[in-house]
Amino acid sequence: MFESLVKAPADPILGLADIYKADERVHKINLSVGVYKDENTVTPILNSVKKAESYLLENEQSKSYLPIEGLATFNLATQQLILGNDSPLIQDNRVKTAQAPGGTAALRIMADFLFNKTKTKRIWLSQPTWPNHRGVFHSAGLEVKEYRYYDPQNHNIAFDALLSDLENIPEGDAVLFHGCCHNPTGIDPTAEQWQQILAVATKKRWLPVFDLAYQGFGGGLEEDVVGVRLFANALPELLIASSYSKNFGLYNERVGALTLIAENADIADKAFSQVKTIIRTNYSNPPSHGGNIVAHILNNPELKEEWIAELTVMRQRIHRMRQLFVKTLQEKGTNQDFSFIVKQNGMFSFSGLTEEQVLTLRNDYGIYIVNSGRINVAGMTLDNMSLLCESIVKVLA
Ligand code: PLP
Repeated sequence: MFESLVKAPADPILGLADIYKADERVHKINLSVGVYKDENTVTPILNSVKKAESYLLENEQSKSYLPIEGLATFNLATQQLILGNDSPLIQDNRVKTAQAPGGTAALRIMADFLFNKTKTKRIWLSQPTWPNHRGVFHSAGLEVKEYRYYDPQNHNIAFDALLSDLENIPEGDAVLFHGCCHNPTGIDPTAEQWQQILAVATKKRWLPVFDLAYQGFGGGLEEDVVGVRLFANALPELLIASSYSKNFGLYNERVGALTLIAENADIADKAFSQVKTIIRTNYSNPPSHGGNIVAHILNNPELKEEWIAELTVMRQRIHRMRQLFVKTLQEKGTNQDFSFIVKQNGMFSFSGLTEEQVLTLRNDYGIYIVNSGRINVAGMTLDNMSLLCESIVKVLA
């Protein structure tokens, strides 16, 4: 049965991590996989997380199954973080959340729900987007299409092209937006642009769905959900796949959530019962440890404050590295203007490097960047900046 199978291509991002690991060069630099690293290139466990884990170790009473939708305390805290503590949507029971094993699983539940339980058979993704989006939605059976998003000449959103593409999307299709810190470009719509996008969604009656994987990594916890909240408050229905991998540093615990908003409590209840059937036949119920950590922190004011401070440190370090990167490139003699990199949000930067330049950096200098030219700014440090910029300037020459 298996003999006829051919080898699948390595994942474009995770595959690169393996090649990096095997590279024996001492000065190698990894700017590929989307994981936060501190000044010592370590992906740290947050103190707030360690404290929550100590608490759980002492106080956890049972390892029995969680409900299909996960921990109630986790789910409410997730809704409040995304929609605001006093959201009328939550008070009106229009919001339902299922804890999921990471943002990826939340996206897959979203995809299965859309394809199997609603009339939606097609989803539109930004061009470019996180490469796994296509695979996740396609595997669920949805037809995947793209809308224009990025203007490489101006390093900005191609906003006119975006609006014109959105105007032509048929009623009932789903359209995926990155809530913040667009991956890979680092460029998000402004509040005014979100308003314009919302106006098209309202007029054309397609279904906006959100991927919120980096809340807190852009402008801040509140700033990063301006678009999501605008849509949630204005539209009858919305789906949000969110992740705690990055903002809690809980990558390998697999913590995320799917949040569904419906027109009223009754519809929300019915729709969510269908979401639960999808989960039941997929992984049955979510793992508990990561969800418990997040719930414990978000429901404990002191720990929550400590977490927000730690998140702020991560966000500010990335921003400092952006500034230093642009400055060092100049000092090393680049004749190109890289100032756009300072304006981008989140961990990633679309550098404008071509695939050929990316490969030269990898082969000749031990610098790992994904083929699209997307750079993980969190991989930069005070120590590797000089070598990094020197090498880029040489490759650009
Ligand atoms: N969505 C985007 C845009 C991402 O960049 C990522 C992770 O890199 C995810 C979703 C998946 O997150 P998780 O690791 O929680 O599955």
